[in-house]
Amino acid sequence: MKAKGYFGEFGGSFVAETLLQPLRELGQAFESAKRSKPFQRELDSLLRDYAGRPTALTYCSTLSRRLGFKVYLKREDLLHTGAHKLNNALGQALLARTMKKKRLIAETGAGQHGVATAVAAARLGLKAEVYMGTVDMERQKPNVQRMRLCGAEVRPVPSGSKTLKDAINEALRDWSASFEDTHYLLGSVLGPHPFPSMVAHFQSVIGREARRQLLKTEGRLPDQVIACVGGGSNSIGVFQAFLGEPSVKLTGVEAGGHGIRSGLHAARFAGTPDAGVGVVHGTRTFVLQDAFGQIKNTHSVSAGLDYPAVGPMHARLRADGRVEYVSATDPEALKAFTLLSEAEGIIPALESAHALAHLSRLKGKLKRDAIVLVNLSGRGDKDLDTACKELNL
Ligand SMILES: *Cc1c(COP(=O)(O)O)cnc(C)c1O
Repeated sequence: MKAKGYFGEFGGSFVAETLLQPLRELGQAFESAKRSKPFQRELDSLLRDYAGRPTALTYCSTLSRRLGFKVYLKREDLLHTGAHKLNNALGQALLARTMKKKRLIAETGAGQHGVATAVAAARLGLKAEVYMGTVDMERQKPNVQRMRLCGAEVRPVPSGSKTLKDAINEALRDWSASFEDTHYLLGSVLGPHPFPSMVAHFQSVIGREARRQLLKTEGRLPDQVIACVGGGSNSIGVFQAFLGEPSVKLTGVEAGGHGIRSGLHAARFAGTPDAGVGVVHGTRTFVLQDAFGQIKNTHSVSAGLDYPAVGPMHARLRADGRVEYVSATDPEALKAFTLLSEAEGIIPALESAHALAHLSRLKGKLKRDAIVLVNLSGRGDKDLDTACKELNL
């Protein structure tokens, strides 16, 4: 049997020796929190009374009519701060407080996870410092302002490509020296064990709710579930509730950027089945890298999907054939962004628009009473500038 934290040949804990002990302690604290009634009660109350759970499940009548099958959205866009990331940030911040840590550090690319961390820290009375590449700070100014308003310190990272992967390096470096009083609040199902399992656990509320809500309104499970895949947390969050149901087809949508052949994309699974396995930021998984193992630059119109690695659980789910992974290009995502806004009055995040883009490909292929559930991971307010520029609005 393999060590804990492996998903088939993927996952693990590839870190400097100094981090092995804090990771072990975190794993133990997480396991006892999972079994602790008071912890669960406090987290449930935060999610309900502060963050706004359960989020709605919305039937899209216009979209359903146009596509020829039933479309339901799980509305993580309605969660406080506008995306699913707060589920994980509140869970980990509460765990950090249970472990008597006083300070949270986090990395952020688009700034959404940084905002969720700043908000959770403010609510729970913890200090927050967020590492962010200087290029991203410029691109995502409103999120920098939100973090600062909530009392977090934003630490600029001017090294490397000045984006997310450099921010993660800095956060890991900080944690190696500060773990006595600091929790590293990682934002997706990535990094060394126990992070992937822990983040998946805190996001599993999405799928649990959606399953219950759909059984209540339709009396049966969906035929398909679709979610976008950046690091992979919102998709794992919704997929988990259906993994044991072979009748439910699960599809993950990666960022196809300018198209796979252009090389300018973030579709880690677009290569041959075993191309691109490597170790990055403490975990063994699919990574976009060149022949020398150097991490490639990625591109997506959506900042939240623009990351060179994918969570190790996804690598396993793909190897097992349980989840199908496809990609949607920037123009396809922008088209879906407009479509949902016009048809239903819901402006989706550009990340979520990738999942919606896959819906259009199913047109004419499903029965009228087929049910397709899409996880709407976030709202599009943060993307208005980008989208309107691209759409010439
Ligand atoms: C960060 C983000 C994503 C991508 O992250 P995952 O870990 O793959 O979920 C998707 N949608 C939104 C709205 C985000 O903010």
